[in-house]
Amino acid sequence: MKIAKVIVDVPANQTDRYFDYLVPEEWMEEDFLQPGMRVVVPFGPRKIQGFIMGISEHTDVKKLKCLDSVLDITPVLTPELLELGIWLRETTLCFLIIAYQAMLPAAMKVKYEKEFHIRNSKEIILWKDIENDKKLLPSIQKEIKNGNIEVIYRVKDRAKKKRVKTIQPAISKEELIEVYNSLATTAIKQKEVIKHFIEQPQKIELQVLLEDLSTTSSPITTLVKKGILLEHYDEVYRDPYEHRSFKRTEPLPLTEEQRNAITPILDTIENKQHAVFLMYGVTGSGKTEIYLQAIDKVLKQGKEAIMLVPEISLTPMMVDRFKGRFGDEVAVMHSGLSTGEKYDEWRKVQRKEVRVVVGARSAIFAPFENLGIIIIDEEHETSYKQEENPRYHARDVAIKRGANHNCPVILGSATPSLESFARAQKNVYQLLTLKGRINARSLPSVEIVDMREELRRGNRSMFSEVLLEKVKDRLEKGEQSVLFLNRRGFSTFVMCRNCGYVLNCPHCDISLTYHKRDYKLKCHYCSYEEALPSTCPECNSEHIRFFGTGTQKVEEELAKILPEARVIRMDVDTTSRKGAHEKLLHAFGQKQADILLGTQMIAKGLDFPDVTFVGVLTADTMLHIPDFRSSEKTFQLLTQVSGRAGRHHLPGEVVIQTYSPEHFSIELAAVPDYETYYCREMLLRKNFHYPPFYYLALITISHPELPKVVDITEKISKFIKAKLSNKAIVLGPVASPIPRIKDRYRYQCMIKYKDEPNLGKSLQTLLHHYQQEMSRSELQISIDMNPYMMM
Ligand code: ADP
Ligand code: ZN
Ligand code: ZN
Repeated sequence: MKIAKVIVDVPANQTDRYFDYLVPEEWMEEDFLQPGMRVVVPFGPRKIQGFIMGISEHTDVKKLKCLDSVLDITPVLTPELLELGIWLRETTLCFLIIAYQAMLPAAMKVKYEKEFHIRNSKEIILWKDIENDKKLLPSIQKEIKNGNIEVIYRVKDRAKKKRVKTIQPAISKEELIEVYNSLATTAIKQKEVIKHFIEQPQKIELQVLLEDLSTTSSPITTLVKKGILLEHYDEVYRDPYEHRSFKRTEPLPLTEEQRNAITPILDTIENKQHAVFLMYGVTGSGKTEIYLQAIDKVLKQGKEAIMLVPEISLTPMMVDRFKGRFGDEVAVMHSGLSTGEKYDEWRKVQRKEVRVVVGARSAIFAPFENLGIIIIDEEHETSYKQEENPRYHARDVAIKRGANHNCPVILGSATPSLESFARAQKNVYQLLTLKGRINARSLPSVEIVDMREELRRGNRSMFSEVLLEKVKDRLEKGEQSVLFLNRRGFSTFVMCRNCGYVLNCPHCDISLTYHKRDYKLKCHYCSYEEALPSTCPECNSEHIRFFGTGTQKVEEELAKILPEARVIRMDVDTTSRKGAHEKLLHAFGQKQADILLGTQMIAKGLDFPDVTFVGVLTADTMLHIPDFRSSEKTFQLLTQVSGRAGRHHLPGEVVIQTYSPEHFSIELAAVPDYETYYCREMLLRKNFHYPPFYYLALITISHPELPKVVDITEKISKFIKAKLSNKAIVLGPVASPIPRIKDRYRYQCMIKYKDEPNLGKSLQTLLHHYQQEMSRSELQISIDMNPYMMM
């Protein structure tokens, strides 16, 4: 008798274990079934998917059901990935099935067609014709192994029809001309739009129109409302994959600094050793060239490489560099691909058609079996942490896989995370430093502007005099500017516009959050609260208020002050369409605009020769979000944004506007001086018991009824306190910074700890205890073992 141990596709506590199924008679004698294959099994009244975890001769179950069928003829998860899933379950407290699902492309969740092509023959066998022929499957599997049959997978993209908004005139050309003449001269943008349709009366995609005229949609909306233009939704079909050719590049002779950095990496590759390197080097110091040459060495050994980059910097420029060096050996995985395209890239890895994967976070699960190197560029980026189950950090997974494969892991950054730099200081990671920029190109000069001064001098606008002057100067010279609006998080912190004072928690060193309902300021870590003051406690000014501005508002202001400037705005609104991001950047690169105005997304990877000025409008917004990493993120972001100016022959200038010019994260980003920043920040982290001195775990509880949430969070906090040593710090219950989402109240309990062997088990017990209530009622409990989002 043969028993298949199966993990079923039901993410729940009761099903987070192996279920036994009898192997069908036809496969008893064969080794057809293998761990990592997907199967269909009867489960209660239904048939569901699952993964085979193992084959055994034993079972404790009396009445066994039989496996129904298989979905794959070869395993989709390697033995290493199966193990890795178990590790993820332990370290992130997720269900095993969720871990496996995270490793596979989304297309695997839908049914896809398989065809079997017999070599040297035109014959094709369709999966659906044989899937029920249990006797035939093992022989097909053998022929695949022998290379006589090839499997071709066909994923049909679920034909989601895409629609785009189009605009056309609602009136005749003569009438348009009439309207044009009757509009006030100040309605510049509206007139421009009408002029366009006088010249070209055809229907046009809204997005294209906006780009052509570099305008916002507001004049168009106005004209639609007036009945002058018509809007309509039209269907479009996806572009087929663009086949581009890449210019081959050769390895560059390395500089001395680069040689010093790459040598220890090459040694570990040579000796098949696992080691973690932290490559700390300013932007433009030649890190990517080192990555490329290290990968080259790995490929020459016949091994494989994973290169992770943050989604946002996975630009065509980046892809070009890898495709240019390694050609068809490269698969690219990012969220811009369709389900089918993602699946195709994954298949290339599985079929061993490529040996290099360049991708965002989830590419860390690429099913390579002979890894020779894993590289994480911009390792400090928080996007490497997944914010849903499994809540893994790609860096941890990389190090785990590096150890599995005895290969090096390289973490690269100009502004390493505190955690990583601290590990490098303790020699847990090997530190490689690149101090100079290639060709000794200088970093731009940075000026900090005190916005409190501006206010005192009567300038109430969001642009300082210096900033405007510099933008105007670039306009005249025909050079380009980038304006950056730092707007992550939300604007519930309270700041004095006169002196820049921000109300902080006396116990946690994070800003207090304003709660409208009871006019109170609260700390969401420790539940400290105080009344909202009507005047500034520092300077008695009445200019104390909430903070925040949007990109759209900035754009409108710019249009008033500099009507002649052509502006491209990049934020979530203008880049939500597939390909819009690239299009806007391309337009800017083609100098179709003078100013690029945007959020976070313009901070990385941009490299335009004519950008000689970068302005940061509000350096403070991120500084005061209630998150202990806000200073670190501010430092990283400002350093990175500044690096966008003057990357080529023209020298660059940067202006940082702020209400807290004396804050060390801003002062030191302007130099930039990472090491001093690191020391100062470490001191704070130590005093306030934060990482890297303490580990964190965050439990978030939500429910539609407030008393219920408070009650359960209280019980949980008590329970955890009782289970841990007195060295651990348990904070809570306290309302989450976003205290209610979709009518669910949210409370949290934060645990700070150093060494608590009981913690994982206790948390599991807790989940188990509330499991019934969680499935029956509206209770939700989520546990994040290494939180990056405190909201
Ligand atoms: P980073 O990844 O640290 O930002 P890059 O590897 O992108 O740095 O290097 C910055 C620029 O310098 C790139 O244009 C790159 O082609 C060039 N470069 C890198 N290494 C060398 C070298 N050894 N000799 C000449 N140019 C180099
Ligand atoms: Zn004040
Ligand atoms: Zn506090």
